[in-house]
Amino acid sequence: MPVTSSDIKRQAVALGFDLCGIARADEFPELQSLRAWLDRGYAGEMGYLARSADRRMDVRRVLPCARSVIVAAMVYNTDRPYSTETTAAGTAEISRYAWGEDYHRVIGDRLERLLAWMRAECAEPFDATWYVDTGPVQERVYGQHAGLGWIGKNTCLINPELGSWLFLSEIIVSLPLDPDEAGTDRCGSCTLCLEACPTGALVEPRVLDATRCISYLTIELKGTIPETDRDGVGDHVYGCDICQEVCPFNMRPAVSTREEWLPRREFDQPALVDLWRASDERLHAALRGSAMARAKPTGLRRNVAVAIGNSGHPDLAGVFDEADDAPPVSPSKQDPMVQEHVDWAKRKLRSL
Ligand code: SF4
Ligand code: SF4
Repeated sequence: MPVTSSDIKRQAVALGFDLCGIARADEFPELQSLRAWLDRGYAGEMGYLARSADRRMDVRRVLPCARSVIVAAMVYNTDRPYSTETTAAGTAEISRYAWGEDYHRVIGDRLERLLAWMRAECAEPFDATWYVDTGPVQERVYGQHAGLGWIGKNTCLINPELGSWLFLSEIIVSLPLDPDEAGTDRCGSCTLCLEACPTGALVEPRVLDATRCISYLTIELKGTIPETDRDGVGDHVYGCDICQEVCPFNMRPAVSTREEWLPRREFDQPALVDLWRASDERLHAALRGSAMARAKPTGLRRNVAVAIGNSGHPDLAGVFDEADDAPPVSPSKQDPMVQEHVDWAKRKLRSL
């Protein structure tokens, strides 16, 4: 008996996914806009996107025998206030997706189990490969064609019932599975996300100039944050959720109670000064195995310095001059690149 699309979707839900749909492994028109986006320089320093552009425009360049793409999604939203809701002054904002466990590992484990189940169920052998976020696949486009939702003007995949706080993942397979109908655009005349973006990074509906986006500036950009961009970073120390928080489809979003996505203690609405005071050793330990595993204390401190500078509270500047109580020492505090951001923050707070 061949395994069917319905069987796969049922099994995906049994394994803990909140959504699962099937798209054809095809060259959809939306995939082609990547080239124009790259040509406009919107990828900034993310050179890997240009290097893998050909593959990103058709999954059959990733797996030549591909016939279908199984897209599975999991809600990561947990019960915490949005950054746009009132939070205590001096609180660091961290993107919701980054609060908990490393989703690549958590979701990868589930995809492997789904694939193992498919191999056991399917009478014939087939080829497959899977990715969680990091593969050369435009997963939001395949997610839309798998019927999971539509790509909103904020560039996120939005499900009409669950919202957009979704981790997306996919299994590319050689099996010719029945595809779902593509999701339909429900943004209508709404432009809330474009208006709310503090840096004007959403230059047109569904077009993100990543080089102006806080997520890029605080995560992807290594080295110095251009001075002209620092004010716009606000109190964000790792990513930004504003264009999702204002979306009407996230007003009553699905909330996950999975322990994996609950914030680690260090990242649960932390005070900026506490993040600065944390030793490198403590930061390393908090980052290990988390969704922020790519971050390094140096990059995090650079962002915390900028956020303290933007806090509007001159008294917070004193934290930069505090001596570490006792070993272990934290070399990242003395890093010249970090210190340049500290000097900027002090100057900004002194001028208030
Ligand atoms: S993540 Fe933040 S900075 Fe980036 S587009 Fe959305 S609102 Fe703008
Ligand atoms: S805020 Fe409005 S325009 Fe933006 S993604 Fe949501 S529904 Fe679409």
